[in-house]
Amino acid sequence: IKIKVTKIDVPVSVASAFEGERVRKDTMFAEFGGNKTKCWELVKEADLADVEDHKITLIGPDMDDAMFAGADVVRLPLGIFVEVAGKAMQKDFESVLERRIHYFTNYIDGAMHVGQRNIAWIRITKEAYEKGFRLKHIGEVLYAKMRADFNNVVDKCQVTLYTNLEDVERLETEMVKPIYNQRDERLDALTDESVDTFYTCTLCQSFAPSHVCVVTPERLGLCGAVSWLDSKATKELDPAGPSQPILKGEAIDACAGIWQSVNETVAAASQGAVEKVTLYSILEDPMTSCGCFECICGIMPEANGVVIVNREFGAISPVGMTFGELASMTGGGVQTPGFMGHGRHFIGSKKFMSAEGGLTRIVWMPKELKDDVGERLNKAVFEMTGIENFVDMVCDETIATESEAVLAYLEAQGHPALAMDPIM
Ligand code: SF4
Ligand code: ZN
Repeated sequence: IKIKVTKIDVPVSVASAFEGERVRKDTMFAEFGGNKTKCWELVKEADLADVEDHKITLIGPDMDDAMFAGADVVRLPLGIFVEVAGKAMQKDFESVLERRIHYFTNYIDGAMHVGQRNIAWIRITKEAYEKGFRLKHIGEVLYAKMRADFNNVVDKCQVTLYTNLEDVERLETEMVKPIYNQRDERLDALTDESVDTFYTCTLCQSFAPSHVCVVTPERLGLCGAVSWLDSKATKELDPAGPSQPILKGEAIDACAGIWQSVNETVAAASQGAVEKVTLYSILEDPMTSCGCFECICGIMPEANGVVIVNREFGAISPVGMTFGELASMTGGGVQTPGFMGHGRHFIGSKKFMSAEGGLTRIVWMPKELKDDVGERLNKAVFEMTGIENFVDMVCDETIATESEAVLAYLEAQGHPALAMDPIM
C-alpha cells in the first residue's frame, strides 16, 4: 500500500492509512460526543475579509486542563466550527466540506470520528495524548486538509473549537441547527421525479469496498450527511470524485425504485459485487450498507411491519437485537434483505420502503427518534394516506419493547400495518 503522509504540524502521523482505526475504551484518553457530551461540527462560508487564514482557536478547556486531574477519561462538549472563504466558494459546498471532517479526523493516528452534524463522536487515544496531541491539532489537520483537498474553492480557512458547555449549547441552538434545517428545507422541495439525474457516493469504499450509496432527492446517503444537493455539489467540486451522475432514464418499476441505469452504475462502481439495487425496497435487492448508517430498519414479522433503531439507542429492540447487533448483520457493503441502513431524514420520505407499502409499515422506534422525525413523518403519512398523527401509533421503548406488548399497543392504536398485505 502506498501511504501518503501529508505534512501537517501535529505530533502524530496523519494519513488515510489510519482511517479504519477504532479507539477502544481501554486505550482512550478523551471523548467528545457519543451520547456522553454534546458534539457538533459545522463548515460555513464566510467573506474573505472575515477569515484569517490558518487561525486555530480553542475557546474553553483542553484535554490537559487541571479540572481533569485524576479522571479516568476526559469528557468535554465540543463544537468544531470551520469557516472557509474563497472566490469560487459556494454555499452548496459547505455540507460537502463538512462531511470530510469525518474522514480528515479519522486520518489522525490516535483519533476516531463517528457520525456527523450534531451527533458527532470523537475519541483520542492515550498514546496520541502522550505524544502531545491536543485539541488545537484537530484544527490544524482540518485546516491543512481543507486547504489541500479543496484548494480550488478554499482560499482561506480558520477553525474555532468550543469546549465550554454554554458556548456549545448556545451556538448549537442559534447557529448550527438553523443551518442544518435550512439545508434540509431546500431539499424538501425536490422529488425523485423532478430530477433527471441521481448520484453515486463511493466515499465509504475505503471501509466497505463494494458499497455504493445511490443518492436521490428523496433518499439521502445512509450516513445522513450526503444529500442529493451535496452529491451534485461534490461532482462540481471534484469531477472525478466519489459522486458520479446516473442519468435516470425510464424506470423499470417506479414504485419499487428500479432503474436499468442505477443497476449498471452500481455494478460498475462496486466492481461487479452488486448487480441490482431496488431503491425503495428493504426486501428485493436493497441498497448495501457500509457501516455509517444513522439508523437501521429491520422487519418485525409478527407486527407485519418494521422497527427502526438509531445509533444512539443503546438498549435491545423488539426484533431482539441492539443497534450494534443489527449493525454487524447489516454493514460491510453486502445486501441483507430484511435489513437496511438509512439516514434519519429518510424516515419522512414518501419513497421509504414504497415497494413494501411505505411509511405506515413503521411500528416501533426509540422515543428520541420519534420526537426528532415526528413532524415530517406525520406530514408525509397524512399526505399519502389521510391518517393523522401517525407517529402516536408507533410504539417506543417507553411504551413497550417486548413483542407481545408491542403488538397489543399496535392493536389498541389501530396501527395500519396490521391490516396491510403480509410483509413477507
Ligand atoms: Fe457517501 Fe454513503 Fe458513505 Fe455517506 S454513507 S459518505 S453517502 S458512501
Ligand atoms: Zn459509510
